[in-house]
Order: sequence, then C-alpha cells, then structure tokens
Amino acid sequence: MIVNLPERKVGIVSCSGEGCVEGTVSRIATRLVLEKIHPENTVTICLPLFLAGGKEERAFAKDYPTIAVDGCDKLCAKTGTERHSGKIASSIVVTELTSGPNRLGSGSRRKLSDEDLALAESVAEKIAQEVDKILNRWR
Ligand code: SF4
Repeated sequence: MIVNLPERKVGIVSCSGEGCVEGTVSRIATRLVLEKIHPENTVTICLPLFLAGGKEERAFAKDYPTIAVDGCDKLCAKTGTERHSGKIASSIVVTELTSGPNRLGSGSRRKLSDEDLALAESVAEKIAQEVDKILNRWR
C-alpha cells in the first residue's frame, strides 16, 4: 500500500518475466536500486497487481515519474504502465544492453552466472542514472 509518500519519489516498475534470464536480471537490477543505490528516492510498483487493477499503484504511476525496466522488447512493464496510467519517464530494456562486455553468461533462469549478476549491476547503474536525471529536474 502506498500512503503519505513524500513529494519526490520515482517509481520503478520491473517486468515480471519468468521465461527468460533477462526478466530475472530486470528484477534483480530493480531491487539493487531500491535497496542499495536509491533507497530514499525510489519505490517499486508490483506489475501483476498494477495490471490486475491495483488502484493505488495506478494512481502512483499517474502522479509520479516512473521508470519501466523490461527484460525484452515485448515491453510488458512499459506498455502496461502507459496503458493504465500514462506516459512513463524512462524505459530500460535489458536485451538492448546485452551486447559486447555485457553479454549474458548462463542463459539459465534458475542460477545466474557471474556475468548475469554483473549485467544486473550494470542495468542497476543505468536505472540509477535515470533516477538521478529525474531528481535533478526537481532541484
Ligand atoms: S518484457 Fe519480456 S521478459 Fe519481461 S515479462 Fe514481457 S516478455 Fe517477459
């Protein structure tokens, strides 16, 4: 439940993909931002609840800037958020970040490789940069 939020909060909504490792990476990266990088400035929105009609989640995404983090170009988090609450502030797609040194290692959804975890950290840094941009607009 979202109540009495301070004025300056950024919402992060991660896709809930279980069918590919990139979905898992998107969730881990989101948690890293929420718990370690920007714990004071971010909240998450549960995508399944949001899509199921969660009133507070939809109201939050209407009133606060929201970053969508999607595992792949199906863009479930971005599309769902924009369909029910309006335009998002930023969109990050893990598969667009998985070339070169960030190539995924294991391809397994059950056990992430060191490379997958490094990618999650890299995605978390990208999310954090987007959070910083939004926060800077408020300063
Ligand atoms: S964006 Fe891709 S990985 Fe995420 S839930 Fe949708 S299909 Fe699955």
